[in-house]
Amino acid sequence: MNLTERDNQYLWHPYTQHKTSKPPIAIVKGEGALVWDENNKEYIDAIASWWVNPYGHSNSFIADAIYKQLTTLEHVLFGGFTHEPAVVLAEKLMEILPENQQKIFFSDNGSTAVEVAIKVALQYFFNKGEKRTTIIAFENAFHGDTFAAMAASGISFYTQAFQGMFIDVVRIPVPIKGHEQISYTALAQAIKNNKCAGFIFEPLVQGAAGMVMYEPESLDELIRICQENKVLTIADEVMTGFGKTGKTFAMDYLVENPDMMCLSKALTGGTIPMAITTFTQDIFEAFYDEDINKALFHGHTFTANPTGCAAALASLSLLQTSEMQAHIARVHQSHLDFQNHIEKHPKVTTTRVLGVIFALEIKTESSESYYGTLRNKLYDFFIENGVILRPVGHIVYILPPYIISEVQLQKVYEVVEKALEIV
Ligand SMILES: *Cc1c(COP(=O)(O)O)cnc(C)c1O
Repeated sequence: MNLTERDNQYLWHPYTQHKTSKPPIAIVKGEGALVWDENNKEYIDAIASWWVNPYGHSNSFIADAIYKQLTTLEHVLFGGFTHEPAVVLAEKLMEILPENQQKIFFSDNGSTAVEVAIKVALQYFFNKGEKRTTIIAFENAFHGDTFAAMAASGISFYTQAFQGMFIDVVRIPVPIKGHEQISYTALAQAIKNNKCAGFIFEPLVQGAAGMVMYEPESLDELIRICQENKVLTIADEVMTGFGKTGKTFAMDYLVENPDMMCLSKALTGGTIPMAITTFTQDIFEAFYDEDINKALFHGHTFTANPTGCAAALASLSLLQTSEMQAHIARVHQSHLDFQNHIEKHPKVTTTRVLGVIFALEIKTESSESYYGTLRNKLYDFFIENGVILRPVGHIVYILPPYIISEVQLQKVYEVVEKALEIV
């Protein structure tokens, strides 16, 4: 039996209906923007393996840092203990995070980073003796698959089986062009009619919704409305963090700062699962007390895993090289050129670019479901042509590793353009 057949015996895959979906492709090797399957077929990883891998597969600089850490101190518990990789990573992050961020809390993935932020927002007001139990979130948001993260997420078929079991969430429209005022009004209403603790948002780009984009000015306005009402703001930068938008963080495009930030995906360059939630000093102080009950009783066994921290430090230093910044600028420019070329195509309704993120929407008769037939047809076409892309309904997006070569990137564009002919 090959790997795909053996997989079928025991494995259960994410977001997969095993009865109707094709068997998974077994990948045996990765290098740069490329991966190879067990039949030696080559694929361009044009979505950086779910947005985690900016610096390329099997990156030897990160691998060396991981090996060195593994053979020095692979792990030690973080309750009552600390270690250099965590301390240095915190210091380095302080240099690049919005200036009001002062405290760093580790967890393991994007969902737990969000879970921590939501729990902190709720306990912040509990500790102050104020009853605020509602969270505000955007329509079609995605914040992860654990319970509080799922409650804040608005993609309904992900969460429909669990309706009625969630914390209170009020949803407001995203301030996309032309809808800014509706969004501001909805936020003000939500705050007026509920006891709101926090507002969580994906800054500037809603990834899982299909790279839906909106302007920094409107997010600034929403944050100001929250500040006036002492509602805590949570920037979920799990997708946007570490260069995807062209700046280190999407929040770097704003004037206002968030109270909390969630980071994961590209944090360790796609090597070791790790996440971080960051906080202002004011939030930390609401938990700082003689009373043990005011502490944050949240933690995960692998909190601040030294090997993960070492991978994150190596990744950060790669991001900060002028070479990597030049790659980001190059990919961005290529996206703009392709946008210019494709936006008038009769089968394209709209295109969007921010940083290394490109998205186009395909003209369809009916409203396409997330995992509908058009989506599957496109997905299969891309795979056949050696490009890994996962369309969201009728939306095709590209979010490649920054180091993707220009030849590889042009091939991705060609395959996307050819795909328009089959729909
Ligand atoms: C992917 C994602 C998450 C969830 O992260 P996981 O590591 O999959 O749990 C949360 N928020 C955003 C914005 C994401 O893109």
